Amino acid sequence: MSLPPTTVPLANEAPSQAPSRRARGRDDACPGALRLHPADDGSLARIRIPGGLLTAGQARVLARASEELGDGRLGLTSRGNLQIRGLDAACGGELAAGLREAGLLPSDRYDRVRNIVASPLSGLDGAGYGDVTAWARELDAALCAGEWEELSGLSGRFLFAMDDGRGDVAALGADVTLIATRDGGAVLRVGPGASGVSDTGFALEVSARDAPRAAALAAVEFLARARASGTRAWRVRELPAQHAVTADGLAARLADEGAEAVRIGHDRPGGTPGAPPAPGVVSGPDGWHAVSVLVPLGRVGAAQWRLLAGLASRDGSDALRVTPWRGVVLPGFTADGAAHASREVADAGLVTDPDSPWTGVGACTGRPGCAKSLADVRAHAERAVAGAPRSPDADAPPVYFSGCERRCGHPGGRWVDALATSGTDYRLTVRDAQGPDGATGATGVGETDVADVTAEQLADAVAAARGTA
Ligand code: SF4
Repeated sequence: MSLPPTTVPLANEAPSQAPSRRARGRDDACPGALRLHPADDGSLARIRIPGGLLTAGQARVLARASEELGDGRLGLTSRGNLQIRGLDAACGGELAAGLREAGLLPSDRYDRVRNIVASPLSGLDGAGYGDVTAWARELDAALCAGEWEELSGLSGRFLFAMDDGRGDVAALGADVTLIATRDGGAVLRVGPGASGVSDTGFALEVSARDAPRAAALAAVEFLARARASGTRAWRVRELPAQHAVTADGLAARLADEGAEAVRIGHDRPGGTPGAPPAPGVVSGPDGWHAVSVLVPLGRVGAAQWRLLAGLASRDGSDALRVTPWRGVVLPGFTADGAAHASREVADAGLVTDPDSPWTGVGACTGRPGCAKSLADVRAHAERAVAGAPRSPDADAPPVYFSGCERRCGHPGGRWVDALATSGTDYRLTVRDAQGPDGATGATGVGETDVADVTAEQLADAVAAARGTA
């Protein structure tokens, strides 16, 4: 089974606290490559990887930075970005210089707003309606060039999604989503279809050529509405209804900039949400193959990371794609090369088996990295995986271990919430964040209490909650 879509981090709120039309009294404190975040295990840097797109050379630079400046590991986030932890608070200059030289920090001013996810298998497996990595690159270039200066004022939590029509990243609840269409065009959606958009579910059709600009202009429109509301909203869904982004308002802005937009009555041409890449070898219609790798709990050692970079440059297309589901896709292999690479990756402790018990298992930072955590949730998650009675079925909901009620980075849709209530105890709850309007997170959160259990009982209790006992 592959991981179901996850939400973007919900502004560090628990599902029941997800922001909806709430006034913000301050700017967001999201970490970046330049703004280090103090944590219990040292400072943390978040390096934006727009579209998840990395060269093998850039990946090696990150491995070296994690070893020389951090704790020797890289963290994969639910937006396909990378984090280095355990940094000395004074190393910011050295880290930034290395990132700049590698092309990983093209703009100091726009660093934290380069939050762009893209369908990781776009153009590789024959699914979807085109390769949207070009949109991700073009949008990022426009952001960094300062074409719309006000976009430097976007919150570090604002998210763009580029979906190739398969519906995977379109299900992440991004603020601005582009979806490729069968006829070579694009659908532009603003907001997850919840509050903050006055006429829920509206979408505009734009040409593929205009799509990245249209996405940037949608963010400009959001900022204008946020300014008018006086709320300092970070996300589209936080806008008050009377200041929501409207189809007509956005279409008018696009027209002013020479981009034609047509309102349509649906926003998901691909139908049901698509699944993220399963671990293993992915075959393309052109005879090339990719290797999809799952990183357990989203934490990869520098040596493992270097192995991925080495395989990409030796047998692949010198590229890596970081996924929003704590995975990496290596494109451009022959069938034999992919099979060989898949084995090497598995031997190094990463996951390329679609039936692995690690599929669908996630955890926040927990102890010792986060002072708010009640427990070492990652160790408990590992123990639960090791003791699992069998691998999860393809349709089993994911489980997410959290050290406190913020539940940073938890999945969306239907999921099992394993919340630490002490250093040794958990409350398991089945949640369904699919609101009546199709939005994730903000509305319509259903909850079913399952059990209060000890850490020793987690493996069996989690399996029962996921229906895999
Ligand atoms: S304990 Fe986990 S959920 Fe709570 S703030 Fe820390 S990382 Fe986030």
